[in-house]
Amino acid sequence: MQIPDIIIAIDGYSSTGKSSFAKIIANEFSFLYLDSGALYRCVTLFAIENGFIDDDCNIDVPGLEKAIEDLDIHFGEGGTYIGDRCVEKEIRSLAVAGKVSPIATVPEVRSFVDRKLREFGKNKRIVMDGRDIGTTVFPNAELKLFMTAEPMIRAERRAAEMRAKGQDVDINDVLKNLQERDYIDSHRETSPLTQAADAIVLDNSYMTMEDQMVWLKKIIAERFGC
Ligand code: C5P
Repeated sequence: MQIPDIIIAIDGYSSTGKSSFAKIIANEFSFLYLDSGALYRCVTLFAIENGFIDDDCNIDVPGLEKAIEDLDIHFGEGGTYIGDRCVEKEIRSLAVAGKVSPIATVPEVRSFVDRKLREFGKNKRIVMDGRDIGTTVFPNAELKLFMTAEPMIRAERRAAEMRAKGQDVDINDVLKNLQERDYIDSHRETSPLTQAADAIVLDNSYMTMEDQMVWLKKIIAERFGC
């Protein structure tokens, strides 16, 4: 299937399979895939390692804003990099997951990440997943999906992913982290997680990846006549 040069924005709750689906879509249509959450996770790792956030999640906003000005986040072999250091494993830890949503409430952090994301998307043919891609980063994206799934199913998926990477996790901790992040993400003042009016909802609780692709291709065929 040949599809036009568009931006596909995928938003939704934590661990709904947004990034897995986005990667498969990118592969299918030869689009670039961009994981916007990875940028928030990098800023969080940087803030933890440099003392801009404490154990109670108090954030030194002016200090952090200044320090991230020249933060070089990019994607390369093996995943996400800060400068020449691959941080893919560290940014997926529960330590980072536990602080990323408070960090993502900071408007100065959001505008830093938004600038980077718009730069990545300027040539279109991109699939980007996150929480505010269809509402704030690319409000004119030609195709917007909003993904959701039942909380326990999401927690089981995320725990399996973490165990596969050798992390020892308790399903209840994972579920609690997902629910906390969903709450903070949906209630923050700047760019909260909400469904864009023109987004199409995908509840994939009981769908395989193949089911989701069949569903998507039908929508693309109807919308773009291809
Ligand atoms: O997608 P992922 O779970 O890796 O995102 C980590 C966190 O980054 C989210 O829980 C959310 O707080 C924040 N985020 C955001 N806006 C985005 C992407 C992620 O606020 N576009």
